[in-house]
Amino acid sequence: MNAQSRIEKPPLKILLCSPRGFCAGVVRAIDAVERALTVYGAPVYVRHEIVHNRYVVEALKAKGAIFVEELGEVPDTPAPVIFSAHGVPKSVSAEAAERNLLAIDATCPLVTKVHREAEIHHRRGRRVLLVGHAGHPEVVGTMGQLPDGAVVLVESVADVGALTLDDEQDLAYVTQTTLSLDDSQEIVEALTQRFPTIIGPYKEDICYATTNRQAAVKRVAPLVDAVLVVGSPNSSNSQRLREVAERSGAPAQLVQSRNEIDWSLFGAVRTLGITAGASAPEVLVEEIMGAFAERFDITVETVSAADENVSFPLPRELRAVV
Ligand code: SF4
Repeated sequence: MNAQSRIEKPPLKILLCSPRGFCAGVVRAIDAVERALTVYGAPVYVRHEIVHNRYVVEALKAKGAIFVEELGEVPDTPAPVIFSAHGVPKSVSAEAAERNLLAIDATCPLVTKVHREAEIHHRRGRRVLLVGHAGHPEVVGTMGQLPDGAVVLVESVADVGALTLDDEQDLAYVTQTTLSLDDSQEIVEALTQRFPTIIGPYKEDICYATTNRQAAVKRVAPLVDAVLVVGSPNSSNSQRLREVAERSGAPAQLVQSRNEIDWSLFGAVRTLGITAGASAPEVLVEEIMGAFAERFDITVETVSAADENVSFPLPRELRAVV
């Protein structure tokens, strides 16, 4: 028995949020890159991080994927170019077609649903308001479904108050899929109060994965001393999970891997909630649990807010090729 194993470790009860981690859109996007690598061989170009997770991106790079921010970085090539789960503006698809690139669209079907809603509203003569975060790739993609200036971005309740519109009658709104449910509800309430005839989505735009992961965190946060969210800082749904935990009363830290854990925050913690954003693989959660097990005598309990059995078929271009 070595000296370390003789030192008694403090107890730590971990409440593991369920569901957590990969959603169906992320699984589909990663599978699309892997299938493309199998079918066409390396390299396969991917516009933007396929999902917002460094671990996933590095693993795909090692298999032969080349990540670019813009199509201009892709040479004229017969190799496929995959569009990320966040979706792309129409101008990107048009540029790929003009250059005869083999484009494969891995946009999550739930993001595509929002794109189609925005298009239908526009066709029916409605001004489209998009509730979302400026600069997020999904927001850029959704705004890019309509001509420049046709979509008005609304980021906050204050933005609703400041809106100046020529026509306040023919309005519709859509939302980013990965918002905080509570924040978006406040913004939508402000919109419907100010514009009582505004038309909303037939079925909620915030996706099932965002909803379920936030519900699990809300359930766990009041029961623990702190919450650890596994995910990337540029992942919208991971950031929202951190916010939801904090608003539910638990200090929360967002980490990409075990190396980023600030152990000074966990000295007095005896109950810990753990969740993961929709783009964070389970292997990272397992590594982090392992890191806690090295320092604490852990017991683990799963707290479930919903069962998930959603899956999406691969993009059409890859389904056809066997
Ligand atoms: S978080 Fe939701 S919208 Fe985004 S990829 Fe996952 S299922 Fe699709």
